[in-house]
Amino acid sequence: MNKFLDYCTNTDLHATVILPGGCNARCSFCYDISENVDIKDYKKKLAEAIAKIPTEARKFAITGMETSYSPYFKDVLELASEYRKDHRFDFVFLNSNGSNLKKYISELNAGLDALNISRHSADDKENYGIFNTDTVPSADELRDIISGLSLEAGVNVNTVITDDLSEEEVERKTYAMIELCKYIGATSLTLRFEAHDRLRPNQLLSFLEQYPTIQEKANPGCHFWLKNIHGLNVVLKHVTKEPTSYSNWNYGYIIQRNFDITRDWAGLKPHDLSTYQTIGNEKLKILK
Ligand code: SF4
Repeated sequence: MNKFLDYCTNTDLHATVILPGGCNARCSFCYDISENVDIKDYKKKLAEAIAKIPTEARKFAITGMETSYSPYFKDVLELASEYRKDHRFDFVFLNSNGSNLKKYISELNAGLDALNISRHSADDKENYGIFNTDTVPSADELRDIISGLSLEAGVNVNTVITDDLSEEEVERKTYAMIELCKYIGATSLTLRFEAHDRLRPNQLLSFLEQYPTIQEKANPGCHFWLKNIHGLNVVLKHVTKEPTSYSNWNYGYIIQRNFDITRDWAGLKPHDLSTYQTIGNEKLKILK
């Protein structure tokens, strides 16, 4: 399995920063609305928040609305580059729809192990329609961006499969997206089946049954199946909107836009970090 898929399908704890800032797109399935805000000393405050997170969290994920539109995008990439150099995290990845990335190729190469690009149709026009903007990159522009990248764990394309699609439409979309991934130079494709209220039954679409499952993993918030389809690694991912909804599972450390560190995306369940203290770069758990 490639490194990106290994990290994204394992259950290692992660630190995820939700970058402040808005988005150039308006996807119907988006559940986050945020605009740019002015935060003094953002980089310093983010570094302080990350220093509170136990070092057992080995992955660092950068997300938000459109991360590359955040005024703090460069700051977070610079921090990521430092964390990679001093081995604070084993794996750094960025979620983006790709819109602004051409300007940041050297920062991306220094700061990331992998890039996760949102793209929801192989056809440019249909993709603009899903994002409700033509400011997201075309297939040719993505190919150009990816050709400048030298990320150890490559580029994944993330495609949301909405409930309104029939199985035939999902099948058509899957094969078209695989061809698109090969064209633009992506190393894997993730088909994300949203399960906002609960995970779907562990059933795969029938056309997928002809492709052996290479790996299957499940945790309380996600269920993954890895397949190799037409020569590409394809992950089918059933995921809940809020992984902590149905259990006390520790999904990871989510750094909210106000630097609160929570267990959930909504920012309602703070982590209790008081049982840890910092000694140098190490966090030691204090046994009570
Ligand atoms: S690109 Fe992402 S953040 Fe922007 S509207 Fe679509 S789902 Fe939301």
